[in-house]
Amino acid sequence: MNILVINAGSSSLKYQLFDMETQEIRAKGLCERIGIDGKFTYKPQVEGKQTIDAADVPMPTHNEAIQAVLKALVDENNGVLKSMDEIDAVGHRVLHGGQKFSESVLIDEKVIAAIEECIPLGPLHNPANLMGIHACAEVMPKVPQVAVFDTAFHQTMPKSSYVYAIPYEFYEKYGVRRYGFHGTSHRYVSAKAIELLGGKAEGTKVITCHLGNGSSLAAVKDGKCFDTSMGLTPLEGVPMGTRSGSMDPAIVEFIANNEKLTASETLTMLNKKSGVLGISGVSSDFRDLDDAAAKGNERAQLALDIFSYSVKKYIGSYVAAMGGVDAIVFTAGLGENSAEMRASISSGLEYLGIEIDAEKNSKRGTVDITGKNSKVKVFVIPTNEELVIAMDTQAIVSKL
Ligand code: ADP
Repeated sequence: MNILVINAGSSSLKYQLFDMETQEIRAKGLCERIGIDGKFTYKPQVEGKQTIDAADVPMPTHNEAIQAVLKALVDENNGVLKSMDEIDAVGHRVLHGGQKFSESVLIDEKVIAAIEECIPLGPLHNPANLMGIHACAEVMPKVPQVAVFDTAFHQTMPKSSYVYAIPYEFYEKYGVRRYGFHGTSHRYVSAKAIELLGGKAEGTKVITCHLGNGSSLAAVKDGKCFDTSMGLTPLEGVPMGTRSGSMDPAIVEFIANNEKLTASETLTMLNKKSGVLGISGVSSDFRDLDDAAAKGNERAQLALDIFSYSVKKYIGSYVAAMGGVDAIVFTAGLGENSAEMRASISSGLEYLGIEIDAEKNSKRGTVDITGKNSKVKVFVIPTNEELVIAMDTQAIVSKL
């Protein structure tokens, strides 16, 4: 079975074609600057086939972008498929499923309407995700499509984890509550951790740290999400590459008044110019911060310290919330690749029984980095959101 995984943004569309027999990627790439000047990338993962990296490819809408993807996939010389009919299903990453979706679903008119209803909760992403869905439906009308939501895994949280301490009517009227994101990643790595713990979800307490450009943590009890750090939007929680994370909400009005900004301009600042970029003034990329800090840049070091401190506080709070922890998982760009950040976050948690082994911590891939005296297991587990989307899609379309 061949499954095309699509992650559509407002002017971009990332894609990966999976062969589900081997779970391997046959081709992947990116359509960028859709509606502007069109940039198209195609990387076949098959020997002897050429990569395409082309600028000025006409892509006025997502439809032409999907058409360009299909054309490349079936190209006589560099394609990896004989014909479009070999695509068995499409899996879409959808940002916000609100309270309507607690798992992945086959897309039909009702699902499309429900994703539309969630637009106020995900105003930047959901319309783009819908464009991807509509484009595939037009270009491949007979191919089943599945939606996989970033919020779905977190739908098991108890009310005490997700209701904000603001007038309750705002939850009832507008659905203002914690939803959480990166759910596909938290689900995948927590399930892998449970396998490593012996396979029985019942009774396990796992904390998953998805640390990348966007970062979030989840407390996973009995295999189900119990709490997570992101909120109504991905702005809440730990500081990130460019997002502030949690702070005193009164800062919004204070900055807006002083800088003569509107509420929405202030939020853009909190989403795009804050986090470790805002603190350091150097970069949102943790590798740049490491380099700058090594050269004595104090604000870069401060940004790293604040990030690590914040993740540590969330781990402590989730241990308290679940009444213990069996395993801590590090994943995503920073969590998988930065041994220094994992060591910095773990240091000082020995009193909770959390210790890592310096030598094991320097290894790559899926590794158990648990220290000799640690009561809690610590794992590095590479995430693979696209593969989970492909697997969910396969499971759903296999039942048709
Ligand atoms: P996204 O949230 O965009 O999916 P990723 O999970 O790919 O992000 O993480 C990207 C981030 O991971 C980069 O911005 C970078 O800061 C960090 N990163 C990747 N490799 C390393 C490394 N070796 N050391 C430190 N940070 C790293």
